[in-house]
Amino acid sequence: LWQISPKAIVSDACASYSTLERLNRNVKPALDDLTQTTDFFSHYRVNLFHKKCPFWDDENGMCGNIACAVETLDNEADIPPVWRASELGKLEGPRASHPGKSMQKEQPKRPLQGGLGDAVGESCVVEYDDECDDRDYCVPEDESAFSKGDYVSLLRNPERFTGYAGDGAKQVWDAIYRENCFQRSSFPNSAALGQDTSARGPAAMDFRAVIEAAGRQHVLEQQRQHNPLTPFVAKTGLEHEDECLEKRVFYRVMSGMHASISTHLCWDFLNQTTGQWQPNVGCYIGRLHKFPDRISNLYFNYALLTRAVAKLGPHLSERKDYTFCQGDFDQDVVTRAKVMAVTEQAASVPQIFDESLMFKNGEGPSLKEDFRNRFRNVSRLMDCVGCDKCRLWGKLQTAGYGTALKVLFELDNNDAADAPVLQRTELVALFNTYARLASSLNAIQKFREMVENAEAGKRVEER
Ligand code: FAD
Repeated sequence: LWQISPKAIVSDACASYSTLERLNRNVKPALDDLTQTTDFFSHYRVNLFHKKCPFWDDENGMCGNIACAVETLDNEADIPPVWRASELGKLEGPRASHPGKSMQKEQPKRPLQGGLGDAVGESCVVEYDDECDDRDYCVPEDESAFSKGDYVSLLRNPERFTGYAGDGAKQVWDAIYRENCFQRSSFPNSAALGQDTSARGPAAMDFRAVIEAAGRQHVLEQQRQHNPLTPFVAKTGLEHEDECLEKRVFYRVMSGMHASISTHLCWDFLNQTTGQWQPNVGCYIGRLHKFPDRISNLYFNYALLTRAVAKLGPHLSERKDYTFCQGDFDQDVVTRAKVMAVTEQAASVPQIFDESLMFKNGEGPSLKEDFRNRFRNVSRLMDCVGCDKCRLWGKLQTAGYGTALKVLFELDNNDAADAPVLQRTELVALFNTYARLASSLNAIQKFREMVENAEAGKRVEER
């Protein structure tokens, strides 16, 4: 009853929301501890400012132009300047640049410029290229050291309402969902990037039985929707029954990420009348409550990340040579212990998502390649997000899902020595994306209670 199988990829009958919520009661505190109290996991290295949107012209006001964010607020002029979208979307706190090679030789344990704050152990934050060879999670540097981006504090820049909206934001989401067109890419730039988007076809046949079973499940689901005890039964786009499994998974990951972002902006919302940051139930109802499929996709992502983190756990513990904090033994031990606390919780339930059912047919490798290319396109699309904070979290979360898929599909279960090569940034992205989902699940439960209480209150009034 625990496992999310391909059948559940279409309907969520197997892993109930309450199962995942129960798990989250233990996972979330461990994740919060890891991401909020360790220097390693509370800072992210990201190239936020030096890349142009590769898909359309950022200068045309549709994307990358802060005006597209400002436009959407109805009465911008009435809003105090500090609450305007342009301000809310800005990054806060000190940033440190990635150290160049020569700088590393001269001053091996300090970032090139800026500082991340007195309390931050830079040895637990900054990645030194000349130590890459000794680590398991580094990839060779392919560009100049300076292009690797800046280190930013995730704690100082929480994912929350920024006011970024309108045509610019819509254009990015539309392009993300268009990337889901595996058979015939309607995304003009995929071809321009030299990526093969046509490697599909018979794969869909392999899952016909699954789809048929899902059809039967759909009837059951419709019956369950009339049951007041299951208000959030999934209705996950069965209108697209001809879609193959991989395509559905791709869509669900994107939609689940979108739902998680929406949850956070509704949960940590700025009331522009009072200046208070507070949950906005109307925002939740309009973006999530009315769309059970979006909530279902969010839970799907939670199950997927849980499986990836559980799978990675033994590899992290066995690799005692992996150092989280160079030159700071105590912090290194503490950080590793907190990582293990999360992975052990994630592994405390029976296998929750069965990745072995994907990429199974004769076309497997090319489908995987296609899937990977589409993910890369989505991460490139993040350079088209016209709000710094949204771009930071968009980049982090696409990298987090990318890492989860890498662990799920590239890591051979039977070979402990075959751990995938993960960069520091991938580890930080993976655990922070998991933490975002844990926080979304929590917020959704609270929102649901608020809606139920409001409805109960209304019924009492009507009597
Ligand atoms: P949008 O959320 O823009 O959705 C566009 C359309 O997509 C909808 O009309 C609907 O048809 C469809 N859709 C919506 N949700 C889903 C879903 N879960 N699954 C499938 N389809 C869906 N704003 C912030 O305030 N803070 C942030 O941190 C932030 N981060 C962002 C990160 C990225 C990468 C992007 C692209 C945008 C971000 N935004 C952020 C903007 C935010 O996501 C919305 O775009 C904005 O609030 C406008 O919302 P909307 O109601 O117009 O619909």
